[in-house]
Amino acid sequence: MLISLVRLPNDGLKFEHQYKDGELDLADRDFTLSRQVTIIGRVDRVGAEMRLRGSLTASLRRPCDRCLTDVEWPLELPFDLIYVAADKDSQRSGEVELTVNDLGISVYENDQIDLDEMVIEQLELSLPFRLLCTEDCRGLCPQCGVDLNNDKCDCQPLIDPRWEALAAVKESLEKK
Ligand SMILES: [Zn+2]
Ligand SMILES: [Zn+2]
Repeated sequence: MLISLVRLPNDGLKFEHQYKDGELDLADRDFTLSRQVTIIGRVDRVGAEMRLRGSLTASLRRPCDRCLTDVEWPLELPFDLIYVAADKDSQRSGEVELTVNDLGISVYENDQIDLDEMVIEQLELSLPFRLLCTEDCRGLCPQCGVDLNNDKCDCQPLIDPRWEALAAVKESLEKK
């Protein structure tokens, strides 16, 4: 969904959108949506910039980082973002975009804000670095692949030779 900034009222513009299945292009992402995104917000002109604020709700689904079981990640996400117009001078725009992205400022082009792009970015940012089904998920056995949360196996833990070398160093240091 694109928000047109042409003829933006002086007192801002409210918007509300309920995404349909497949409306957001998540093809290259490592999560899916188990509940579609609902977004409500407003856009206001602040000097030369646009301020986009509101909140979105959704539920993401992604495999647990340890055992690969699907994990639900429900969220209610407030956002408050500043947009600046992309420089029309194409030679400079790449450069400008880099600088503003570094500052956490987004860029809009052709007098419209790409809401889909913003939503996907916010969803990605909301995902924790490590997503686990439970805090103490035991994961899969690295050798036979059984889910150690539900099963046991007789594999002996493999010792990586690099760790053995480290352990030896540590031991010799402790002796001194
Ligand atoms: Zn898990
Ligand atoms: Zn095993």
